[in-house]
Amino acid sequence: MDSSVPVAIVMIGPPGSGKGTQSSKLSAFLGIPKISTGDILRQVASGSSRNSEEIRAIMETGGLVPDSILADLVTSRLSEPDCKKGFILDGYPRNIDQVIFLESLLQVKNYKLLVVEIAVPEDVLLKRVTGRFSCRGCGAIYNKYFLRPRNEKICDQCGSADFAYRSDDNELVVRERLREYTLQTLPVLDYYKAKHLLVSVDGNRSLDEVYDELTCHLSKVL
Ligand code: AMP
Repeated sequence: MDSSVPVAIVMIGPPGSGKGTQSSKLSAFLGIPKISTGDILRQVASGSSRNSEEIRAIMETGGLVPDSILADLVTSRLSEPDCKKGFILDGYPRNIDQVIFLESLLQVKNYKLLVVEIAVPEDVLLKRVTGRFSCRGCGAIYNKYFLRPRNEKICDQCGSADFAYRSDDNELVVRERLREYTLQTLPVLDYYKAKHLLVSVDGNRSLDEVYDELTCHLSKVL
């Protein structure tokens, strides 16, 4: 890949598509930061700033946090020096207004934009998301349908018996997040497709298979 051209990679996928994991692997491989708006918002929500309460309430019900809040967070994060060589956006933009805002931000910087969709059927997503839990000791991720610890109650990695479910991972909230995805984010995919910026990857396979296809696509365009 030509590392002299700064790249803006946008990762789009429904909740549970694995876009976060793929973004992390890609970030390590390309040596550019992964910027997850979900992670940033969770951090703000757990603090006590002016917006924390509002953000917490929205995230708990699976809705989208207002564009103006995202605009400030993204503008400030993208202006940090580690983004100069490029960055991977995980979870932004999620609607057409955010697309337009990102375009205005990227216009002033000279990035090559590439958008990746990770597509996964809805029934698989529901199991992935509702079954997901993690070890509080080391952060290892498990799934009660697809990936249990070898010993039911003990983390394979660190031996802890303390596991956590994300508070927004119950089925009702997941369905709401999928509804938001269909309504707000599918038009974003159509928009980028029409501009020939979209690469679509079949996400209903193992992490390694998805990652191989992703890097294969990227090596052709970067
Ligand atoms: P994620 O970790 O990407 O699944 O995001 C978790 C939650 O954070 C979402 O369900 C939204 O409530 C909020 N969120 C993350 N990114 C955005 C965004 N670009 N626009 C609005 N809300 C967002």
